[in-house]
Amino acid sequence: MNWITKFVKPKLKSLLGGKKSLEIGEEAWVKCKQCQTMLYSEDLEKNLYVCPHCDLHLHIHPRLRMKHLFDEGAFKEISYPTVQLDPLNFKDKTSYKDKFKEAQRKTEMQDAFLIGFGKIQGITTTVIGMNFKFMGGSLSSAGAEAMVKAAEHAVANNTALVIFTASGGARMQENQMSLQALPKTTIAVQMVKDAKLPYIVVLTDPTTGGVTASFAMLGDVAIAEPKALIGFAGPRVIQNTVGETLPDGFQRSEFLLDHGFIDQIVHRKDLKTKLAQLLSLLLKRAA
Ligand SMILES: [Zn+2]
Repeated sequence: MNWITKFVKPKLKSLLGGKKSLEIGEEAWVKCKQCQTMLYSEDLEKNLYVCPHCDLHLHIHPRLRMKHLFDEGAFKEISYPTVQLDPLNFKDKTSYKDKFKEAQRKTEMQDAFLIGFGKIQGITTTVIGMNFKFMGGSLSSAGAEAMVKAAEHAVANNTALVIFTASGGARMQENQMSLQALPKTTIAVQMVKDAKLPYIVVLTDPTTGGVTASFAMLGDVAIAEPKALIGFAGPRVIQNTVGETLPDGFQRSEFLLDHGFIDQIVHRKDLKTKLAQLLSLLLKRAA
């Protein structure tokens, strides 16, 4: 990459009012949506996609997250069963099939879930990472299969299950099938609990809709990243329903912690240590 593409192009784009944030991973520059600083994506990657200027936690690809979470960056990816794609033949502006294939190409993932298996400070753990960049992290029938697969894997290997949630809710293109996926995920979580193994949830920005109404709220421990939006319906919908102005920071991690909805807020850079501590305590194994 030369000087022109690295420095001049983004400056020109911002001058010309390029309001749309650049896609992470596809462009060299990303605009922080909080402080509006143009951030060089290589630097951002080194900083775990946390803005070095204002500390905003941006979306991070689950594969990169796992690389930092597991010891020496080593982990095994576990695939999950495929399901029949798009039996409803759903189409809005473009077909669901096309959107899905584009999301797979962009994220290099099977669906919005990535299952990883490796060691966190020496403790073998099964981890799920959700990718908001995969159709808004929406929960599909395949997503439910991923939850079941990860739960079965955790039980078979006697490990805890840790999930990093990021989702706008159920996948609307799958209609009632995505709703049927919700109870399936709660059954998956129950399998882990029945085996007396810990299920830890790390809520990241944003975690909303049906995902909040199912597996995201069932953690034995509920951790959140700073300033993450966590809720069921969006603030505008609630405001219109209750007819009252909502308090500042409503549905953000800090507000939820104050109201006893989550257990703690942990900065992304401290998550590995915190998870290792919790796993060690809950499993009575030395980290
Ligand atoms: Zn920023």
